[in-house]
Amino acid sequence: MKKQFKLVATVAAGLESVVGKEMKALGFEYQVENGKVYFEGDVQAIIKTNLWLRAADRIKIIVGQFPARTFEELFQGVYALDWECYLPLGAKFPIAKAKCVKSKLHNEPSVQAITKKAIVKKLQKHFHRPENVPLQEIGAEFKIEVSILKDVATLMIDTSGTSLFKRGYRIEKGGAPIKENMAAAILELSNWFPDKPLVDPTCGSGTFCIEAALMGMNIAPGFNRSFAFEEWNWVDKGLVQAVRDEAEAAANYDIQLDISGFDIDGRMIQIAQKNAEEAGLVGVIHFKQMRLQDFRTDKINGVIISNPPYGERLLDDKAVDILYNEMGQTLAPLKTWSKFILTSDENFEKKYGRQADKKRKLYNGTLKVDLYQFYGQRVKRNAVKG
Ligand code: SAH
Repeated sequence: MKKQFKLVATVAAGLESVVGKEMKALGFEYQVENGKVYFEGDVQAIIKTNLWLRAADRIKIIVGQFPARTFEELFQGVYALDWECYLPLGAKFPIAKAKCVKSKLHNEPSVQAITKKAIVKKLQKHFHRPENVPLQEIGAEFKIEVSILKDVATLMIDTSGTSLFKRGYRIEKGGAPIKENMAAAILELSNWFPDKPLVDPTCGSGTFCIEAALMGMNIAPGFNRSFAFEEWNWVDKGLVQAVRDEAEAAANYDIQLDISGFDIDGRMIQIAQKNAEEAGLVGVIHFKQMRLQDFRTDKINGVIISNPPYGERLLDDKAVDILYNEMGQTLAPLKTWSKFILTSDENFEKKYGRQADKKRKLYNGTLKVDLYQFYGQRVKRNAVKG
């Protein structure tokens, strides 16, 4: 089996640098490209990145890359890769829907079928199985991806299983949740640190608050879930346990955090509380049913993170206009607080009543959104109020 792997962390467009920073903190060198962060490492690297990366979607092994302008070239190229180093006899290896972009080969179902055929043939030869008997696929799953970009085929194996944004704590999510990894990325883009107050005044199912608490306590985001690689025979269970034990030891459950979530909808507050409990955060986050218009505080140097309703999603346009306006008025007196507001509304600043210090384009799923960033005035603690 392999000792060293070419790996890629896939990530939502616009967040490559966030995942790159996380990768660096884990001790890996990396290169970024659109939606991808490339790195190299051993089995432990696969385990660690799956367990610890907060903003990535998946970790995949790059099995190989080669030119593929014809079906014959594709077949031979796939066949030539060392599949026997990854797939044991009996492995399930579904091929995900192929993706062909700007390439001569563009019939995706055929690309998918030929990839399967070539891998089957390679394994039959390696394991001395007759060619006329189909391989039994009864073991662990290795999900294979094939894509062809500008006549170059890339073959990958997914190591994560369900996408990394699924941490395992969100039992219910309400009408318009933000993905967990996107929430974590926004927190990483913000200037929040665990010693500052954090408020999400439109918290919905509590995603920002929960991700912040996990970050604040240094809890690995993947701690409560399993991964595809855990079923693989060449991934040492003892090593997985060791990386998990190390994560457990690194967590700081005693740190004092000041994280609050409010929502106008009492049902959402119940959901947020349940999700936080599921994440093991009993009593850590202060959730309360409240209108954001009623938020007042004497604390300083805090951070507001909010993903208020957007026109298309939860409220009609008029109600959104009023809400954004009232939001601007409510938050204006909090001069030392920084505010990070995510919305798809291109006229947000006008409605809110202030121009953002910085704007960052992101994608919430397929929806283009902007993160409007307003920085608080820097002051020494105890110097002012508000
Ligand atoms: N980030 C959240 C989703 C937020 S959706 C998550 O991950 O689940 C927007 C939320 O704003 C909804 O839950 C809605 O109930 C709430 N909301 C709408 N108007 C509000 C108001 N005036 N004050 C507080 N919350 C409000």
